[in-house]
Amino acid sequence: MKLYCATGNAGKIREFALADPALDIVRLENFAAIPAVEETGSTFEENAILKAVGYSAYADSLLFAEDSGLEADGLGGAPGVYSARFAGHGATDAANNALLIERLRGSGNRTARYVCVIALAKRGGLLNTFRGEVEGRILESPRGEGGFGYDPLFFYPPFGCTFAETAAERKFAVSHRGQALRKLAAFVSRLS
Ligand code: IMP
Repeated sequence: MKLYCATGNAGKIREFALADPALDIVRLENFAAIPAVEETGSTFEENAILKAVGYSAYADSLLFAEDSGLEADGLGGAPGVYSARFAGHGATDAANNALLIERLRGSGNRTARYVCVIALAKRGGLLNTFRGEVEGRILESPRGEGGFGYDPLFFYPPFGCTFAETAAERKFAVSHRGQALRKLAAFVSRLS
């Protein structure tokens, strides 16, 4: 079943490509030309719903949007919904990572989790949301070249390495985004 996704994030698009091929995920045409939905929510759910409902008005079939980010326990759950703009609007991954290292310097509490919420909508109406979470630890310096965002700092104990040091498929098998997409796939398969 054709499923539009609304995102401009290249890292997310690469990971969506790893999803069940039965989902037939297609990037919304002219996404860059569509007025951006402001992420004004205070939770991942609120922002995912805002984006899915808003962008689905431009699609002739099911559309999903996701909101995701990192919650560091030593920072009271920050950067959370501000993960993409932790170091300011338009911040690079390197700037966000440098700020995370700085803020956690000397902190004894380095546990953290990635959260992903996917919202599925059709022509402006919300159908459902799907959540995934994965627990890890924030390192004091980056390791690895793969992944995107905070992956070089996100150490995943069961693998004994960061998400930037493992293959994309292996990350997807356990990640917040992989979990949420598998729940989406199960839901969509019941629709058809
Ligand atoms: P969003 O586009 O507002 O959902 O921003 C998500 C941000 O969270 C990304 O720009 C990254 O900084 C971070 N993030 C979410 N998922 C991941 C991941 O799988 N790896 C690394 N960083 C992630």
